[in-house]
Parts: sequence; C-alpha cells; structure tokens
Amino acid sequence: MQVFQNIQDLKGVLQEARQDRLKIGFVPTMGALHPGHISLIEEARKNCDLVVCSIFVNPTQFNDPKDLERYPRTLEKDYQMLEEASCDCVFSPSVTEIYPEKDNRKFDFGRLDQLLEGKHRPGHFNGVAQVVSRLFDIVEPDMAFFGQKDYQQLMIVRAMVKQLGYKVQIVSCPIMREPDGLAMSSRNALLSPEERKAASLLPECMHRVKTLFGRKTIEEIKAEVREMIRKEPLLRYEYLEICNTETLEPYDGNGKAVALIAVYAGNIRLIDNLEL
Ligand code: AMP
Repeated sequence: MQVFQNIQDLKGVLQEARQDRLKIGFVPTMGALHPGHISLIEEARKNCDLVVCSIFVNPTQFNDPKDLERYPRTLEKDYQMLEEASCDCVFSPSVTEIYPEKDNRKFDFGRLDQLLEGKHRPGHFNGVAQVVSRLFDIVEPDMAFFGQKDYQQLMIVRAMVKQLGYKVQIVSCPIMREPDGLAMSSRNALLSPEERKAASLLPECMHRVKTLFGRKTIEEIKAEVREMIRKEPLLRYEYLEICNTETLEPYDGNGKAVALIAVYAGNIRLIDNLEL
C-alpha cells in the first residue's frame, strides 16, 4: 500500500493506472476507521482494479468548531486497517494541500440541503460538496463508494455529480452496525461507557418506527419515539422524520419512506436511518 500526502505524487500513480486501463475505485473518509469504512473498501476491491482511500478531516463541513477539534484522529491505526483490507493507495493530505486558498464555492441543492441535517447543521453539505468535488478532481475515480449511514449526504453527492457533470459512478453501501444495532461511527469512540449503553436506544427507536409504520400516523410514531428518548437522561432528541426516499420531504403516502433520526448522547451527535 502506498501512502500519499501530496496531490502530484498521487496523480502520477493514478495517471499510470489509467494508462494501463485500470478501473479506479475511491472511498473518501475522515479517518478513525471502523468496519463500516472497511466494508466500503471491500466493495471497491470487488468492483475495481485500484482502490484509493482518502483520510481527510474536512474543516469546511464542520459547523461546530468543538466537533472539529475533538473529531478522533487515529492515522497509524487507519493505515494498518487499510493495508489489511488490501487498499492500494491512501491519500492523507494536509488542509493546505486540499485548500491552498479559501474555497468560496456555494452550491445550490435546492430544498435537499435545507432539510434534516442541512437544517440542523447549516453549511455542512456545502462543505461536503466542496471536499468531495476537490477529491474527485484529484482522484478522477471511475467509481466512488459511500455509506447509506449518511443518507442525505449520499443524495447530495449524487446531486453534485449531476450538477458538475462528473463521470464517476456513485455506489451506495449498507450501514454496518454493532452487535446491539448501533450504527458504526467514528464518533462512537467519543462516547463514555454510560453514553454508549444509552445509545443502543437509537436502533431500538428505528425498529419501533418500522413496526409502527402503516399502523399509526406519522405524528403518533414521532411522539412515541420522542417519549422513548426523553425517558433516557443521557440522550437528547434532535429530530426524527419520516421522509420520501427520493426527495427527503415529509412522507405523504406516495413512493418509499425512510426514517431518519439525530440524537445527542452527551455532547456527541449521532445519526441513523432505516428504510421502511
Ligand atoms: P466518514 O469518515 O464518517 O466521513 O465516513 C466515510 C464514509 O464511510 C461515508 O461514505 C460514510 O457514509 C461511510 N460510513 C460511515 N459509517 C458507516 C457505517 N456504519 N456503515 C457503512 N458505511 C459507513
């Protein structure tokens, strides 16, 4: 496995691969890797000849400076996990390598970035679009792999690919979960043992939504889940919405539905979703 901090060095290797007609698969991450990330690497490994993983904690997508500061960083362990997963190239650039100048681009995703995460984390998806487009310009992948864990992010990435005319194929990968059902996340490492225990209520809530969906009204379902979370003193409810999978607008009975939730465990913000 080769490790690159520098854009030009990485581009050199990728250019050669492209000349050899190798199919390039790309997995962008912010590091602090866990088996959820590795599942994306494995999917890329199955579908592509050369697998590139980026590790970059992108400052422009953090709306909360404290969240950026405490975001876990475990670079050496990440390299080891990627090596074991037969990743070919890791790109772990500095902030100035990615943003030699301030990125002032403003994307327009219409309603998609005003809802849910977009509403609660203003500017977050603009930052995501900035970094993913920067990385796509550098790596020029044939395929890029994203987790359904970040459901709305996946839709934003698809919208950005369409808007900017990238030729990359976006592949959506299922959510990897802990034995108690909690979605794997780099932020889980920041939870105290008590908060971690309390967080297992999240997947329980999602299952409850699935059970009640179609039997009770959406308002009743939301009220019941809000109450489940209110009873757990270590958790703080931010939102639960049941949305149309195509638009993320509130579900109106047409098409398919997805439940999306955001909850704080102590200071740590956790999200999850489940298609219904
Ligand atoms: P992150 O490092 O949190 O930015 O995540 C990098 C990629 O890994 C994103 O496409 C995430 O959606 C994906 N990912 C994160 N957690 C999981 C998980 N539990 N299962 C599957 N994919 C995940």
